[in-house]
Amino acid sequence: MNVLIYSAKDFEIPYLEAANTKKHKLTFTKEALSSETAMLAVGFDAVSIFSADEAWVITIEKLKDFGVKYITLRSVGYDNVNLRAASRLDIRVANVPEYSPYAIAEHAVALLLALNRKLIESNFRVSHYNFNLNNLVGFDLNNKTVGIIGTGKIGAVMSKIMHGFGCKLLGYDIEENSALKDQYGMQYTTLEQLCNKADIISLHVPLTTETHQLINEDLIYEMKDGVILINTARGAVINTEDVIEGLKRGKIGALGLDVYENEKGLFFKDRSQNFLSDTLIMTLNAFPNVLITGHHAFLTDEALTNIADTTIYNLDCWDSGKETDNELTDINESS
Ligand code: NAD
Repeated sequence: MNVLIYSAKDFEIPYLEAANTKKHKLTFTKEALSSETAMLAVGFDAVSIFSADEAWVITIEKLKDFGVKYITLRSVGYDNVNLRAASRLDIRVANVPEYSPYAIAEHAVALLLALNRKLIESNFRVSHYNFNLNNLVGFDLNNKTVGIIGTGKIGAVMSKIMHGFGCKLLGYDIEENSALKDQYGMQYTTLEQLCNKADIISLHVPLTTETHQLINEDLIYEMKDGVILINTARGAVINTEDVIEGLKRGKIGALGLDVYENEKGLFFKDRSQNFLSDTLIMTLNAFPNVLITGHHAFLTDEALTNIADTTIYNLDCWDSGKETDNELTDINESS
C-alpha cells in the first residue's frame, strides 16, 4: 500500500520503518494534515496522522477526491477526525487504542513530583551554585487524596501508581471500574465531591463534547485551596483562562500540563526564533508553579514501538481486504 505519513517526526521514522519491513511504501512528510495540505496525498491509498493533524469535513472530502481510502491514526485520541464524514465518504479510519498507558501515567506522575518537590527551581538554583532551600517546601504524597477524572486505561495505571505512594483515590467516570475499587480502594464520586476533597487532580478523559472545558471556573471554585492539577489528556478538557485565574488567586497551587488548548500549530516544532502571538502560553510560562511539556507523555521506546506496530498492522489488514480490530466508526464518534 502507498502510504503518506503526515506529521512525521525524526524520532518515530526508524520505529515505523522497522515495523514496516518494507511491506508498504511509506513516504514521510513533516507537514500536518489539513485542508491546505490534503493535496500532498494525491496518489496515496492511505494516510497516517497524529494528534496535531486535522481531518475535518473539508479535509476528508479532499482526501476522498485525491483517492485516499484509509486513515490510520498514530494516537489513542481521535477527536481530530470527523468520523461521520469519513464513513459517509467510505474512508476507513483506525487508531492505536492502546500503546502504553504506562508512558502517559508515568509522565503525569513526573509532572506531579517535579511540581510538588519544586525540582525545576531546585535544579536551577544548584546550577547557579545557589544552595538556599527557602520556598522549596513540598508535601508528602502519602495519605493525600488524588482525584482521577477518567479511569480508563491511563487512569487505571495512574491509580495503581498513586496507590503505591499511599494515596487515597477518588474516581469520576461515566463507567466505574470495579477492579480499581477492589484493588486500590478507589471511591467513585461526583465531579464536585472529587474536587471538594482531592489534594491532587489528574485528568484522563478523552476530549468529547461532554468533556470539552470540563475544568472551568465553576468546578475550580469547588476545588481545595492549593490543589495540584495535572492534564495529560487533551488541552481543551480545561478552560485555560479559568485555570490561569485559579492560579492567580492561589486556588490552584500548581499546574502540570502535557497538552494545551491551543497546541495545534504550536507544539512539535522549534518556535524559539519566532514571535509568538499566543499570550495564553506566555502567561502560563510566567508562573513558577506551572510546568509544561510539549505533548511528549507518549515518548517512550515501548510506546513508539507499539504505535508503529499497530499502525503497520492496521495497514496490513486493509491491504489484505480485512477489517482491523482498531476500526473507528461513527457510533464511537467522540466530538
Ligand atoms: P480510555 O478510553 O481507556 O479511558 C477514558 C476513560 O474516560 C473511560 O473510562 C471513559 O469511560 C471515560 N470517559 C469518557 N467520557 C467521559 C465523560 N464525559 N465523563 C467522565 N468520564 C468519561 O482512554 P485512555 O487510553 O485512558 O486515554 C485517555 C485520553 O488520554 C485519550 O483519549 C487521549 O486524549 C489522552 N492521551 C494523551 C496522550 C499524551 O501523549 N499526552 C497519549 C495518549 C492518550
